[in-house]
Amino acid sequence: MNDPKIIRPDSLGECKYDSPLKGSISRFYQNEGVARAFRTKDLGALENISDIEFFELAGPREKIFFNPEETTVGIVTCGGLCPGLNDVIRALTFCSLESYGVKKVLGFQYGYEGLVAKYYHYPMELNTENTDEIHEKGGTILKSSRGRQSDDDVIDTLVHYGVNILFTIGGDGTQRGSRDIVNRLKERNIPIAVVGIPKTIDNDINVVQRSFGFETAVEATWDIITNAHSEAKAYRNGVGLVKLMGRESGWIAASATLANSNVNFCLVPEVPFDLYGENGFLTHLKHRLQRKQHAVVVVAEGAGQQLLENVNGVDKSGNKKLGDIGVFMRDAIQEYFTQEKMEINVKYFDPSYTIRARRANANDSMYCLRLGSNAVHAAMAGMTNMIVGMHNDRLVHLPIPLIGERKVIDPQSWFWQTVLQATHQAGNMLN
Ligand code: ATP
Ligand code: MG
Repeated sequence: MNDPKIIRPDSLGECKYDSPLKGSISRFYQNEGVARAFRTKDLGALENISDIEFFELAGPREKIFFNPEETTVGIVTCGGLCPGLNDVIRALTFCSLESYGVKKVLGFQYGYEGLVAKYYHYPMELNTENTDEIHEKGGTILKSSRGRQSDDDVIDTLVHYGVNILFTIGGDGTQRGSRDIVNRLKERNIPIAVVGIPKTIDNDINVVQRSFGFETAVEATWDIITNAHSEAKAYRNGVGLVKLMGRESGWIAASATLANSNVNFCLVPEVPFDLYGENGFLTHLKHRLQRKQHAVVVVAEGAGQQLLENVNGVDKSGNKKLGDIGVFMRDAIQEYFTQEKMEINVKYFDPSYTIRARRANANDSMYCLRLGSNAVHAAMAGMTNMIVGMHNDRLVHLPIPLIGERKVIDPQSWFWQTVLQATHQAGNMLN
């Protein structure tokens, strides 16, 4: 049998130092991989079964690239809040200091801004004392920001503080930023490792099976949907309308719907819908109210954007601004039933920030600890231009350039069909 094709991240060079973990753990990792998940229907794309790709398994290496006592670690958090940010900061700090005995851990504040001298956000030194209890709170002790910074400015700051490893905790934008920093580091021939811990509450990173904070977010929707249901049931023709996160993919909305199946309509970006006409959403809502006198509607923030007036512009990081589908739906429902001369009572819930700012639940905390420590193992072994993530139930190293497009719900998937089944909503609300 041919050697398996293991996809590996970039490496800074030969690992010459013995890992200080020798003695405290009983096994190291090398040359192990987990097969990239695919289905029998995708087999046709393979010429040979030995073309199956493997991702390199994460885990401590016996030989490492950086000499711990001369190593300074930097950490930065960028983009929106997500449960578990502090857990990851803590895991990175503890693993770097306690397991490897690195010289110093610096937390750069306010996202990539903290790595640019002109903003005067000085880094804070992190230790096991000042990060000891941070996982008990939501948010990020390092603060965050949006907005593009110059790669050279960032690198100059890293060099100024003698940083050897930079951990970037952030979403798609942050990881694109990391990739640019790595490319510039290569051009300038500076051996700094950049390893990302992908943060997306929407769980929309391709190849990564699950991102931290997602499970906490879905759990947090449970009570909100229950309250929306109670409000809806308490009034004649009550409608509980809940807007949830999900700019381009509706994983939270769909998972929340399956978790608390009192939801009757789940609207996601992947499945366009009309409002009016025989097959429009409002007609289906009317039938539902006539039948049951109450309804719960969950709408992901990126759903139905084609129904809104063009919202122009982008935020500081270049992300497209979305129209507010929640408020739009609330008003459209009210207007429609006024015209239909049917009394209804709409209660609108927009819990985004209360969910994002929560602390991680136990399972997410555990995942954050594993992500953080495995990011440290990879970086200490000189790996760079990569993220750590779960694939096929194992933690793996994923080269940043490989990530590509967003992970979205396939409307033909059994997952989405189960949502249709659980809600009894029409599979296609397009006229
Ligand atoms: P989230 O989507 O959860 O808010 P994010 O990491 O995508 O997280 P952004 O605000 O889009 O959040 O980006 C975070 C940082 O990454 C910003 O400082 C931004 O300038 C930088 N960044 C975004 N896109 C790019 C890009 N294409 N190239 C380089 N840097 C980028
Ligand atoms: Mg983003």
